[in-house]
Amino acid sequence: SVPTIYAITPTYYRYVQKAELTRISQTLKLVPNVHWIVVEDAEEKTNLVRNLILESKLIVTHLNAKTPPFEKFKDKERWKKHRGVEQRNAALTWLRNNLHLNIDKGVVYFMDDDNTYNIKLFQEIRKVKKVGVWPVGLVGGLNVETPILDSATGKVKGYRSGWKPNRPFAIDMAGFAINLDLMLAKPNAMFSYTMEKGLQESEFLSYFTTKEELEPLADNCTKVYVWHTRTEKPNVNGVVEGFEV
Ligand code: UDP
Ligand code: MN
Repeated sequence: SVPTIYAITPTYYRYVQKAELTRISQTLKLVPNVHWIVVEDAEEKTNLVRNLILESKLIVTHLNAKTPPFEKFKDKERWKKHRGVEQRNAALTWLRNNLHLNIDKGVVYFMDDDNTYNIKLFQEIRKVKKVGVWPVGLVGGLNVETPILDSATGKVKGYRSGWKPNRPFAIDMAGFAINLDLMLAKPNAMFSYTMEKGLQESEFLSYFTTKEELEPLADNCTKVYVWHTRTEKPNVNGVVEGFEV
């Protein structure tokens, strides 16, 4: 049978949340065999997200885990704040408590709510045996960040990355997926606030694999199937009552 893709989406309330989740859920409607894990950064699950999930008719696990205040208000500078840590960990704990090693088959992907996904990406994700990697568009100050392949071996030998290319894994959260077996076999692998913000991906991937073992996908890392888009904060100067936008 086709391996299930477990797509983990942290999400938080702001004006564009419903728009983002509409786009993501309708992308996932085009993908067979997905289990969407939506984790709200909130004290309680909201009706906005609950209704959107119901309407989507996708297979969904709906969780919530609030980012602690020390993290949320730590720094004025956006880039210093950890985002999605609590939520991704809640999803990982759910996977480890509810799925079974060697019985459930699938691949785990961190699918932020604001990126843009080509449905071809999910065909690539399904191929992942341990850890798969591919290029990510519009990130790190570059048009694309990508693993660099050794032309002789076809293996990853380095990274084109706008930021610290010498990180152990210079890969954005959107640029890799991990087989469920491996995720279940390494229960200690979690995200943490002690990791330097930009090293989250690197430190997390270090639990599972080495550079030499990475599986380059998307046509030997020549195709861009995901973009690290960021939605502009809308200017809302007036509120018309009676609408849930
Ligand atoms: N996120 C969250 N709580 C926050 C900030 C972000 O749950 O306080 C989620 C957000 O919805 C997204 C992920 O965490 O799915 C990554 O956040 P963002 O896209 O803002 O980070 P960036 O891409 O700018 O690094
Ligand atoms: Mn983002």
